[in-house]
Amino acid sequence: MRRPILRYGDPVLHARAAPVQALTPAIDTLIDDMHETLRDASGVGLAAPQIGESLRLCLVDLSAGRRPDQLLVLINPEILESDGLQLKEEGCLSLPGIEATVPRPLRMRVRAMDRDGDTREIQAEGLLARALQHEIDHLDGVLFLDRLRPVYRWALTRRIRRLRRAGKW
Ligand code: ZN
Repeated sequence: MRRPILRYGDPVLHARAAPVQALTPAIDTLIDDMHETLRDASGVGLAAPQIGESLRLCLVDLSAGRRPDQLLVLINPEILESDGLQLKEEGCLSLPGIEATVPRPLRMRVRAMDRDGDTREIQAEGLLARALQHEIDHLDGVLFLDRLRPVYRWALTRRIRRLRRAGKW
């Protein structure tokens, strides 16, 4: 079932999420809901807090729904190491219409459980490293705006306030 995506300012998005304790049928349904929501939005990643579930679970699909084999399900992901720097424009389904150049590591190694309960290590570079850090940030209550210099963050939050007042956000 497709679920509504929460927007910047919702308290769930700004809180640290709790670990997934067990792969229950409820978690399986949540993963299906997240996948459907992500596909419907043509996004490359979605974290459980974005649909109101404060759990350490996120999906990444660099093909944005075009290739089913590209879907990564990450349960309780941990960043083992990261290095390098990349600067690219980035957006977020919880910040529609807002984009900014966000500094991210160029490479990273992540450990996570998949939906079968197997622990996997992912070696990521470039766009995948960026997407993984973006989604894992969501699990810590961090949105890309929080990674910008205060002057840029201020400008974008002002724009969001203006859009909200105009009823366009
Ligand atoms: Zn996001």
